[in-house]
Amino acid sequence: MTIRSIPQADLKAGYRAHKDALDAAARRVLESGWYILGAEVAAFETEFAAFVGARAGIGVGSGTDALAIALRALGVGRGDGVVTVSHTAGATVAAIEMAGATPVLVDVEPGTCTMDPAGLARALERPPVPVRAVIPVHLYGQPAAMGEIMALARRHGAAVVEDCAQAHGATLDGRQVGTFGDIAAFSLYPTKNLGALGDGGIITTDDARLADRCKALREYGWRRRYVSDETGVNSRLDELQAALLRVKLGHLAAGNARRRAIARRYDAALAGLKLVRPRVRAGAEHVYHLYVVETDAREDLRARLKDRGVGTNVHYPVPVHRQPAYEGRIAVQPDGLPVTDALAGRVLSLPLFPELTDDDADYVAAALRDALG
Ligand SMILES: *Cc1c(COP(=O)(O)O)cnc(C)c1O
Repeated sequence: MTIRSIPQADLKAGYRAHKDALDAAARRVLESGWYILGAEVAAFETEFAAFVGARAGIGVGSGTDALAIALRALGVGRGDGVVTVSHTAGATVAAIEMAGATPVLVDVEPGTCTMDPAGLARALERPPVPVRAVIPVHLYGQPAAMGEIMALARRHGAAVVEDCAQAHGATLDGRQVGTFGDIAAFSLYPTKNLGALGDGGIITTDDARLADRCKALREYGWRRRYVSDETGVNSRLDELQAALLRVKLGHLAAGNARRRAIARRYDAALAGLKLVRPRVRAGAEHVYHLYVVETDAREDLRARLKDRGVGTNVHYPVPVHRQPAYEGRIAVQPDGLPVTDALAGRVLSLPLFPELTDDDADYVAAALRDALG
């Protein structure tokens, strides 16, 4: 077998696939003389909100900022607890602290790797700090258990901010992620299913009052130029990224469909091997931001795949509650987070991006079969 070189993700391939339209969009902005919060951002906000099925979209500087601004718009801050998971990007928890609130971390369900509703119920019943909001993370492209999570949050009077950074376009029972909670935050980081060619994020909501507050908070608390009604931040999406994102938004549904087709190909090819394949929640349409398998022998398998030219990644090797910056300081459920701790040593992300060919996916599967054989 000739050795190939297959990365876990390939941003250059994503650019090349739509190069002419992206180049034209960039040129349009460069020649316009208007670079921050203009017609391109307004159009992208409208188009993305329509894609999600939300009333309003507010472009911001990053997914982390989108979460922090959404929390602040809800009035969540100092002294308030925000429940989320430890098995997530550190950004989710960083955003809670940016808003001044206290993270309360709960475990995830085995299999789907998203927030365990039983853990959430325990945190809401015996909170270490009064809980004002819940952030479910639609991790790897899979919707969290939103039916149970919404019911629990509502019963306890907590707001829900969906972290949709990895799940643009994913659905649960036919409904898009981002339309379940009070407000939703999306990252537009280059590797995400909808990725800019730089940093970016967007908030969506049906609530006009929340949308208005997010808009003010992203720019110094301004509702009128140079007049701060409240203290805000500088977190603006720029025109260049918005123009590029409008091109990419047109290809998001097809990109997600291609990701699903590759996942089905892996599912079939990896059946019977000594590893755990992703489990999809009943009623969910997964968008496979990542195709994550679980194995007892991760480091060995990673090395064997590397020898065969197959790039992999680990999302995430150290849970937030075990990070040096957070350990011992962060409110975790008293019985610990056993599923989260186990996953950190077992998860492995295989190559997956829309431009990956069937032939390369088959090569990855063959390399796995060899390595495990
Ligand atoms: C990427 C990501 C974020 C943060 O987004 P940035 O745009 O990098 O700030 C937040 N949550 C999750 C789950 C993510 O994957």
